[in-house]
Amino acid sequence: MFQTVSKAFFQILAGSGVLKSLASRYGMGARGGFARRFIAGETVDDAIPAARAIQAEGLKVTLDFLGESVATAAEADAATRAYLAVIERIAGSAVERNISLKLTQLGLTIDRATAVDNLRRILDAARTHDFFVRIDMENTPYTAVTLDVFETMWQQGYRNAGIVLQSYLPRSEADAARMNALGARVRLVKGAYNEPRDMAYQSKEDVDAAFVRIMRLLLAGGNYPAIATHDPAMIAATRGYATERDVDPSRFEFQMLYGIRRDLQKSLQAQGYGMRVYVPFGREWFPYFMRRLGERPANIGFVIRGVLSER
Ligand SMILES: Cc1cc2nc3c(=O)[nH]c(=O)nc-3n(C[C@H](O)[C@H](O)[C@H](O)COP(=O)(O)OP(=O)(O)OC[C@H]3O[C@@H](n4cnc5c(N)ncnc54)[C@H](O)[C@@H]3O)c2cc1C
Repeated sequence: MFQTVSKAFFQILAGSGVLKSLASRYGMGARGGFARRFIAGETVDDAIPAARAIQAEGLKVTLDFLGESVATAAEADAATRAYLAVIERIAGSAVERNISLKLTQLGLTIDRATAVDNLRRILDAARTHDFFVRIDMENTPYTAVTLDVFETMWQQGYRNAGIVLQSYLPRSEADAARMNALGARVRLVKGAYNEPRDMAYQSKEDVDAAFVRIMRLLLAGGNYPAIATHDPAMIAATRGYATERDVDPSRFEFQMLYGIRRDLQKSLQAQGYGMRVYVPFGREWFPYFMRRLGERPANIGFVIRGVLSER
């Protein structure tokens, strides 16, 4: 209940232009910028050393050049060209070739065809440079169309892509079974958006129970699933099920977000589990950052300390 209210509150704040401009003034300051804990920087040249440092600890990475909900075809084209430049830049670095993106960054808010065209440009470049592309899952107006776009690309032979399923959506169990049948790679998450009662489970108990059911489906019959959570109970359930069903740790991986539970990231890696860190960067960090605050309002403490230290 508290988490639902908190997510809704921070979602409203995420729409505030005043807050956004204040945040961009203080958030990414070189010294003590409060958003730096969760965002690797505003440019790919900031993200590359951050990713290298993570890799040096034996962890894997996926880089996300942040952006979402672009409003015009010209903006979607600019975002796509920027992402293509990021691919070239990563390909020329010693960073793992694995990226995450959102379809509304590529024009899904405008129409499906724009997003599909732009996604194809990115998947082609990714194929040339041997990248894996994870299509993040956004809020419910985009669930069905995101899955549909993914499956269309899959049927067209693009196998260098994977999808995300959210356990707060009752539909995700059936989606997981369909992705398993395709052989597509799934990242399982709880879900980060504030969703209406008729679309999503609202209680932590229901979201967690569904997470465990889908995790089992994916571990038993999926293609290298990613179990993306910081929740020790979900991690314990995954480890327990893998042991019980004799699923080798090389057949799945855990994923966590940059700056969250770094202790747990390292300890799971040290125990022989694959651990991938999601490294977000870019100037459009504000909505991503606000979702992280909504998940854990205690994070507001970092913000206040960061702003005070800048003055
Ligand atoms: C790699 C990765 C990719 C993701 N991709 C998507 C996506 O495509 N679509 C989508 O809707 N969601 C995505 N998410 C977010 C996800 O849906 C959850 O909102 C987020 O992971 C918090 O849920 P949790 O599983 O960690 O469990 P929770 O029950 O929310 O948290 C468990 C514990 O984790 C820690 N924790 C969780 N969040 C935070 C935080 N913000 N700050 C500090 N500590 C925290 C706390 O210790 C908390 O007690 C992604 C998450 C990860 C890890």
